[in-house]
Amino acid sequence: MARELEQAVTSPVADLAGRGGDGRLRNFVAGAWREPAGRGELVVRNPADGAVLGRVPLTDEGGVDEAVRAAAAAFPAWAQVPPPERLQTLVRFKAVLEEHFEELAALVTAENGKTLDEARGEVRRGIEVVDFALGLPTLLMGRTLANVARGVDVEMYRVPLGVVAGVAPFNFPAMVPMWMFPIAIACGNTFVMKPSERVPLSVTRLAELFAQAGLPDGVFNVVHGDGETVRALITHPDVRAVSFVGSEPVAREVYRTASAAGKRVQALAGAKNHLVVMPDADLPFTVEAIVSSAYGNAGERCLAASVVVAVGEVAEPLVAALSERIGRLRVGDGRRPETEMGPVITAEARDRIASEIERGLAEGARLVRDGRGEGPEGGFFLGPTLFDHVPPGARLLRTEIFGPVLAVVRVASLDEAIDLANRSPFGNAAAIFTRSGLSARIFRERIEAGMVGINIGVPAPVAYLPFAGWKHSFYGDLHATGEDAVQFYTERRVVTSRWPAG
Ligand code: NAD
Repeated sequence: MARELEQAVTSPVADLAGRGGDGRLRNFVAGAWREPAGRGELVVRNPADGAVLGRVPLTDEGGVDEAVRAAAAAFPAWAQVPPPERLQTLVRFKAVLEEHFEELAALVTAENGKTLDEARGEVRRGIEVVDFALGLPTLLMGRTLANVARGVDVEMYRVPLGVVAGVAPFNFPAMVPMWMFPIAIACGNTFVMKPSERVPLSVTRLAELFAQAGLPDGVFNVVHGDGETVRALITHPDVRAVSFVGSEPVAREVYRTASAAGKRVQALAGAKNHLVVMPDADLPFTVEAIVSSAYGNAGERCLAASVVVAVGEVAEPLVAALSERIGRLRVGDGRRPETEMGPVITAEARDRIASEIERGLAEGARLVRDGRGEGPEGGFFLGPTLFDHVPPGARLLRTEIFGPVLAVVRVASLDEAIDLANRSPFGNAAAIFTRSGLSARIFRERIEAGMVGINIGVPAPVAYLPFAGWKHSFYGDLHATGEDAVQFYTERRVVTSRWPAG
């Protein structure tokens, strides 16, 4: 372990205040790094070479209680800070984030494995949420109606909720947490973040940087841990709302448990995204877009293409072009500039994905490219994999694989393609590639998905608009980011007043 930790200190996480000299991460509670009394710990590895980056404690109920209490204690004062003043803290946070931009990207690459360019994109998207939060004083404004009855006025105010809990997945270690806490905190709430135990370093660093920007103690807290830690957090009596992002079964369970405990909940879940390719699509452009969607971030994106639905005669040339392009995709360490696709998150994930490939074969799909066994030694690599002629009802079309595996299905018409996509229980994202405005319009109107791309392979969220899927890709009502987030993180109070003369 000592030698492995030595390796880690050469990584960009060398001077992390939230990680002790023993490599163990600390919780961030009331502005201080605390060693939680826990239920053990897990080792965090760089997926590109297996190097140990730290050890993450599994915080128990007592440790969660400590963090929530700190957030609850900080709430009254933070809620009273005038919004323009709160905003100044965010302005400083934004400046600190820009200053540490490259370091944050390197940290994301170190713990998640994605390429440096992908990590830069992720950190930039996260900073855009801070940009959005800078407009909060305007978004927090209420509404009024004077003289609703003679001499009577009504006013609606937006007020913060109290303590908000955030729970994040491994695939965007910085961006997904940043969908949540900058907006919640700008709205006047205090926050307890539980990052993924597989990528806990980026959030640890973000907490340091937010404190450096002058955020008062207790406004942003971090607890490390696993599912049990989450259960303690989302049922804690002092938590008012829960923002969750993760896999479908866990999202469903978190939604049920937290709702039953009386919390406001938004739970963004898994996906099985269909990309429809029409015979009139611009083929070279479409191939690049599909490859980037299916294999970018090693397929570990909730908006990743998972199924390509090839309509009519486009199937043959499309599969040939995809296979040729994938054959040239450079798989390797995300820290190297030439790498186009990094490793998957863990050895277990790699083995699980490999077994999904085996099942696909057993179900009769044709394996055009097999990525098993590809990639440098020592890391958790799996090359890009492509299936064609996937039979209807196959597991490859139903289950979220969350890795670099793409399934092609051949259909005869746009109607058939839309029907097939809509049979999926998920509805996170879907896209069409076509030169026809009419096909695009039909698709836009009929497809059951929250994020729709037209000649766009990854209809990615933007901070200024709401983001979530439909059907089993989302449990809740108000989506993440944009004005939905402001509504989610605030309560409305309506005041009716009359001032009798005399
Ligand atoms: P995951 O569900 O395994 O973990 C997510 C979080 O939940 C982690 O913090 C984890 O500690 C916690 N958790 C795990 N088991 C739990 C349990 N039983 N009870 C309570 N909490 C528990 O997800 P993951 O593997 O980290 O992330 C990948 C998944 O996230 C994919 O399914 C992907 O589609 C989804 N995702 C969705 C979106 C979206 O916007 N819809 C975005 C990113 C990722």
